[in-house]
Amino acid sequence: MHTDNSNRKFALACDIGATKVSLSLGYRPGEISDRLTDMTHRMSEPESLINELSGMISGMVEKNRLSMKDCMGLGVAFAGPVNGKEGIVLYAPNIQGWENVPLRHLLEKKTGVRVRVHNDANVGALGEYRHGGIAGAGDMLYITISTGIGAGIVIDGKPYEGANHMAGEIGHVTVIERGRKCGCGKSGCLETVASGSSIERIALERMEAEETSLRRRALETGGRVSSIAVFEEARKGDILAAELVENACRYLGTAISGALMLMDFSSVVLGGGVAREGEYLRKKVEFYTLKGLARGRTQPASILVSRFPDSVVDIGALELVFEGT
Ligand SMILES: [Zn+2]
Repeated sequence: MHTDNSNRKFALACDIGATKVSLSLGYRPGEISDRLTDMTHRMSEPESLINELSGMISGMVEKNRLSMKDCMGLGVAFAGPVNGKEGIVLYAPNIQGWENVPLRHLLEKKTGVRVRVHNDANVGALGEYRHGGIAGAGDMLYITISTGIGAGIVIDGKPYEGANHMAGEIGHVTVIERGRKCGCGKSGCLETVASGSSIERIALERMEAEETSLRRRALETGGRVSSIAVFEEARKGDILAAELVENACRYLGTAISGALMLMDFSSVVLGGGVAREGEYLRKKVEFYTLKGLARGRTQPASILVSRFPDSVVDIGALELVFEGT
C-alpha cells in the first residue's frame, strides 16, 4: 500500500562532493525519510551538475508521490568555500569551471523553490549542533576527517564563515615544517598526515620496508590498504598500524588544542568517515588535545564523535530549509 502524500510539506537536501552527489528528503528537522546517492558522479561543470540534480529531484519527488508545489526548499552542502549569504560557490578545489558560481540563483531558476547553499563542513556543523550529542549547547568546532580534513564553526547557534568565507580550514594548518606537499599548494598541512587518504598513503609507503600484518592483509587484497584496515590492525596490535594511528591522532590533537586555545570552544565534534572509528579515535585525539592545552585551563572542551557520521551533512542541509521557515 502506498502512503498518500498529496499536500504533504517536505524539504530537500543535497550534498555535492567531488566524487558523489546525494539527495535527501525530509518532513521534519533531524529526520531523513528518503535518500539517493549517485556514486558514479564525477564533479562536472555547473550546468551538467544542475541538470543531473534536477533529474534526481524529479525522480525522488515522483517516487514519494509528492508535488514540487509542497516543497519548502532545497538546502545544498558544497565541498568548497561558499559565500553562504549570497549562495555563491567561490571555487571547488581541484575542479575547473567552478569559480564564483551563483549556485543558489541557478538552482532556484531550475527548481522553482527557495535554495540555500553553504560549505559542507559548515552544514555538517549545523546538523551536529542542532541534532547531535551536544544539541544546541555553546560554541562548537566540528571537524570532518575523511579524504581531506575540514571544519565547521558554530558560534551563537550560527555557522561562522569568516571575513573571506574561509573559516574552518584546519586541514591546512601547518603541523610539519618542510613536510609533504599538500593539494592546497603549501607543505606539511594537517591534511597531509591525518586524513583518511594520507593514512592510507603513508601505510603503503611504510609497508614496503616493514613486514607487518598490515602488509600481509594488503597483499591479499591486491596491494590496497584502507584507513579502516589501518585502524583495525592497530586495534589488534600491529606495530606499524598502531604507530600510524597514533601519529594521525597526535597531529589532530595538536591542531585542535591550537583551535581551543584561540577560540575556547565548549565542544569539539569529530565527524567524517574516519570518525566511524568511534571511541578508539576519540580517546586518542582527546589525549593529545589535552596535552596541547596550557595549564590553568580548568574546563577542557568536551570532545565527542558524531552521532551520525554518515548523514550529518544531509541533516544539516535539511536544517537550512527548516530553520528558514
Ligand atoms: Zn594544505
